[in-house]
Amino acid sequence: MPLDPAAALTARAHEVTARLAALDADLAVVRDARGPEQSDDEHDPEGATLADDLARLVGLRRAAASELAAVEAAQARLSTGTYGVCERCDGPIGAGRLAVRPAAVRCVACADLG
Ligand SMILES: [Zn+2]
Repeated sequence: MPLDPAAALTARAHEVTARLAALDADLAVVRDARGPEQSDDEHDPEGATLADDLARLVGLRRAAASELAAVEAAQARLSTGTYGVCERCDGPIGAGRLAVRPAAVRCVACADLG
């Protein structure tokens, strides 16, 4: 299958947007379940579980939001002609890596540097 970064990024953006919406719905449910009284979590097994759920969902939502931002940044690079160029060494990122991670900003060698 030929690499079509625009299509890959659009698909990824749709997927992440859907994930964000699902997480927002889950968060609303958990927040409703917790209710306005949150003072007794320590002594309430149910409350502690909800707190764990909330923390987990907030973490997932943060990760999804940053992934969406990365995808949008990649779409911007696509329109300015710098897509697929490593931000660190200016070398090509590589079609294989972009196929797996269409929003990648570094080539494999530079990504390994952290
Ligand atoms: Zn590089």
